[in-house]
Amino acid sequence: MDLLYIRGQGNELMEDLPAFALAAHWHKGQTRKGRQKEPFVQHPIRVAEILIRHGITQTELISAALLHDVLEDTDCPPSEIRTRFGSEVSGWVQEVTDRKTLLKSQRKQMQVERAALLSPGAKLIRLADKIDNVESLFNDPPANWSWQRQREYAAWANRVVKNLGPVHSAMEARYHEASDQLRMKVTGKKPF
Ligand code: ZN
Repeated sequence: MDLLYIRGQGNELMEDLPAFALAAHWHKGQTRKGRQKEPFVQHPIRVAEILIRHGITQTELISAALLHDVLEDTDCPPSEIRTRFGSEVSGWVQEVTDRKTLLKSQRKQMQVERAALLSPGAKLIRLADKIDNVESLFNDPPANWSWQRQREYAAWANRVVKNLGPVHSAMEARYHEASDQLRMKVTGKKPF
């Protein structure tokens, strides 16, 4: 995957941002869990796009959105983000990074509990992240995720978003629409 490929996906909004190139570099070769196996970097790009489409255009926040999974899912050292983008961007990325030393169940619980404590910028990124994850689960669920697992994910994401409190009403409306759509799709389905 290279930048030309990403540009071909209609992501011209972001191509001048150094954070775009860094996210593409570190997520290179990674794919999302869905059946389509799309390049992972499309996820942080969509998260940044969701923010931009809702009027949030501050370069630092968009940069942090593009980099929001780099510390959690790649070997990118935190110092690289701090050195290149400064402490504000680095701080937001750190805030939305789960601690990998914890068990998955603990990480999920901690994400619920910490949602209320995030800074306003990190809350916006977290909400846009959940919007894309729920929309992705609706559009392109992983092949090995049962209906039950999809229901559990949706319920957990709802808890995180609830604990964020009021963040951005139009983005919250988009999240709830996506969540309701997903719930309608997966409710009442038999386990497989
Ligand atoms: Zn993410």
